[in-house]
Amino acid sequence: LASLLNDPSLLETRAYIGGQWVDGDNGTFDVTNPARGDVVAQVADLSRDQVADAIAKAEKAQKDWAKWTGKERAAVMRKWFDLMMENQHDLGLILTAEQGKPLAEAKGEIGYGASFIEFFGEEAKRVYGEMIPGHQRDKRIMVMKQPIGVAASITPWNFPNAMITRKAGPALAAGCAFVARPAKETPLSAIVLGVLAERAGIPAGVFNVVTSSSASAVGKEFCENPAVRKLTFTGSTEVGRILLKQAADQVMKCSMELGGNAPFIVFDDADLDAAVEGAIMCKFRNNGQTCVCANRLYVQAGVYDAFAEKLKARVEKMKVGDGLEEGTDLGPLINHDAIDKVQEHIADAKAKGAKVILGGEAHEMSGNFFGPTIVTGATKDMAFSTEETFGPLAPLFKFEDEDEVIELANDTIFGLASYFYAKDLSRVYKVAEALEYGIVGVNTGIISTEVAPFGGVKQSGLGREGSHHGIEDYLEMKYVCLAV
Ligand code: ADP
Repeated sequence: LASLLNDPSLLETRAYIGGQWVDGDNGTFDVTNPARGDVVAQVADLSRDQVADAIAKAEKAQKDWAKWTGKERAAVMRKWFDLMMENQHDLGLILTAEQGKPLAEAKGEIGYGASFIEFFGEEAKRVYGEMIPGHQRDKRIMVMKQPIGVAASITPWNFPNAMITRKAGPALAAGCAFVARPAKETPLSAIVLGVLAERAGIPAGVFNVVTSSSASAVGKEFCENPAVRKLTFTGSTEVGRILLKQAADQVMKCSMELGGNAPFIVFDDADLDAAVEGAIMCKFRNNGQTCVCANRLYVQAGVYDAFAEKLKARVEKMKVGDGLEEGTDLGPLINHDAIDKVQEHIADAKAKGAKVILGGEAHEMSGNFFGPTIVTGATKDMAFSTEETFGPLAPLFKFEDEDEVIELANDTIFGLASYFYAKDLSRVYKVAEALEYGIVGVNTGIISTEVAPFGGVKQSGLGREGSHHGIEDYLEMKYVCLAV
């Protein structure tokens, strides 16, 4: 991998604590390339004591960082953003090597991830307080916004860069220090953020990366260490619940971006070609491994067969392969468990009467590759109705009318992203209002941007990331009552 990079020094394998590069007390763990199965790097495996040390260094650094003006913080964050963009190609290569997604998508993620650093750096200048008219003649009421303190993050492997920057951006802008624990599958993309933070002049201890093969040990330290005042997590609802319980002992502030089970609805009046393109983007991006991927596709009876045909014709053309090869549309899945899950969902659907019209089997490239699959005749009793597949499986459900599909779409514990295609304006309003989701894409399959508030309702999470609202998750309000 190093030989492919313009700047091989970006391939760092040590952890970054208090501005120092450190080896792991527990040795190293392997990072493997999901496309080829080879070991890409051996990364520092930190002990719980080393994680505690990172928190202590962050706590110390945060005191001074909080004193910097918004403009000063913005300047170094801008530099950090610029370095990410200057090294976009190398960062993309590192990401593809450990995560598998096609290089073009990986570079797209670097641009997307970097945008949070740019956006929130700018927001650092706009953390406004408030003056409230006093409740008595001699009273003045002031509301100030202050950084929470040390924020710790736990992030997944599906977006190894952006899931960290969308948390670190607002945290640093607010004046918090940050300790990032990346997924063990994809630590290199996190470590390189540390390399660039150092080069950008982010002060030692303000941004730390703790790599460890034991997620639960790090999770416990984050929740039990009193210096951590904020936990920010992206991952499954299952692990989110564990962390919320652990964090309760310290009454720690938590932001949670958890699982989804996104409905994608195509109404009779939709532009079918646009709906097919939208479905491709939001079902097959990152090979179906995103929490906002369409999991259930509901198609109105009048256009059901036509949509299925068009989608099939389009998906058939997608090329499965190594993400580093030119022209690859779909990379490998992250590991074999991911393939098992897709296969279980297909077997379950077939047993309950669904028909596989495309794919359905492990790809001829074997390993972690799986052919994109479309299933018709999907029904409510099938596993993918209630569980996220997190893979390249598109189940098509048939529905008759608006009320029925709204009920079906909302019939889940999740509430992250949803999508629908329709032209009738009153239908657009009615359905957008009725969907119990934090995000609704109307006539589009792509909803992620740093300028909008991303987050879920119900068991999909707590808090919002992105937009001017996103920084609030890292700020405390203090009310000062002054008698004059
Ligand atoms: P995914 O399916 O995206 O891997 P997980 O919720 O399993 O979702 O994992 C998300 C992140 O949470 C990963 O970095 C994983 O290592 C970490 N994790 C898993 N279990 C725990 C735990 N008990 N405590 C803290 N972190 C955990």
